[in-house]
Amino acid sequence: MPARKDFQSSSRLKQIMADHFLELDRAAKQGSPKVAWCTSVGPAELLRGMGYLVYFPENHGALLGASRLATDLIPTANAMGYSPDICSYLTSDIGSYLKKVTPLTRAYGIESVPKPDVLVYNTNQCRDVKDWFTWYGREFDVPCIGVVTHREVGRVEEHHIGSIARQIRDLVPVLEEVSGRKLDMDRLKEAVKLSKKCTDLWKSVLDTAANVPSPLTFFDATIHMGPAVVARGTQVAVDYYEELLEELDERVSFGVAAVQGEHVRLYWEGMPIWGKLRNLSELFAGLKTCVAASTYCNSWIFEAMDPEEPFESMARAYLELFIARDEAYKEEYIKDRCEQFHLDGIVYHDAKTCPNNSNSRYGMPDRLSRELGIPALILNGDLNDLRCYSEEQATTNIEAFIEQIVEG
Ligand code: SF4
Repeated sequence: MPARKDFQSSSRLKQIMADHFLELDRAAKQGSPKVAWCTSVGPAELLRGMGYLVYFPENHGALLGASRLATDLIPTANAMGYSPDICSYLTSDIGSYLKKVTPLTRAYGIESVPKPDVLVYNTNQCRDVKDWFTWYGREFDVPCIGVVTHREVGRVEEHHIGSIARQIRDLVPVLEEVSGRKLDMDRLKEAVKLSKKCTDLWKSVLDTAANVPSPLTFFDATIHMGPAVVARGTQVAVDYYEELLEELDERVSFGVAAVQGEHVRLYWEGMPIWGKLRNLSELFAGLKTCVAASTYCNSWIFEAMDPEEPFESMARAYLELFIARDEAYKEEYIKDRCEQFHLDGIVYHDAKTCPNNSNSRYGMPDRLSRELGIPALILNGDLNDLRCYSEEQATTNIEAFIEQIVEG
């Protein structure tokens, strides 16, 4: 099996993730700084600007998937009435909490996820996050607040921005009460500034994959996006992506390919299959195929961030996201990426428990294939629930798909 080409930056990445969890663990035990739980595309900059440490349950969900603990934990949440059809991040995370099992123990010697002082969601991705956070709000008896956003948005208009910015401002009094500190605008602006720097660098990192051969695959990017998820709004993330970008630029200048002998290039639409990342990465590499771009990793590009208008720019950044947009916008977006990254085909992951991130159910693959003149493959699976995924079937389908592309 071809090996993954390791990055020199990987050791720094591991350290950042360890520091993140250990710092949260200490804070939760000492009661200071206060800990806020935040959805992945929630207002993390505001929380950082107000002095909170920020914990992201979806990141824990991904760890539960990657460590393959999820499939055993999901039934515990199902038994309490949470359907196997809803978000398997939610069901595996609540199952993990109830069974007192977390991959953080093995990785960092941490007994449990950090207790929240407040929970803050944004429904721009789905309603599941609100239900998920509400459950923990009841469990820990702490405030659960958030932003209820517009969905299926075509053009982002000023009235959209106004309503979201207002909702983000309305979070402030509760956050001040929980932390016992007034909002410091300079600190907030600094967090937004750092978030913008992080986002620009992360975009540049992903854009290096437009080179042929690509120095980076989707599978690498799912790992290296860690700091953009858990540390955006901090200098740590900025420093990390400067280092990673340098390494990637060097790979590009020497023509170093992430997939040796790359001769097919694909787009990945939808969630990763966390428990099968390595298998899939090796399968594609063995077929000399580079999955060079994805919707998922691009979800952490928030170009609108502007420290001069922190509330409005957060509102815009969080609303301009792919997942909150209408079908016409999504199709244009994917078309642009396919052209920019010189792609030969699109793989749609139809994730059983995340219709929000599955775009293969309303005819998009056929429409885009016709327009772009490239084929599409729909893989049935799930982000965390491996009972929904047949490795054998997926392998056969992927092999046949690549053969179809190669034979033209
Ligand atoms: S977008 Fe999908 S994976 Fe993310 S929280 Fe919502 S249902 Fe879960």
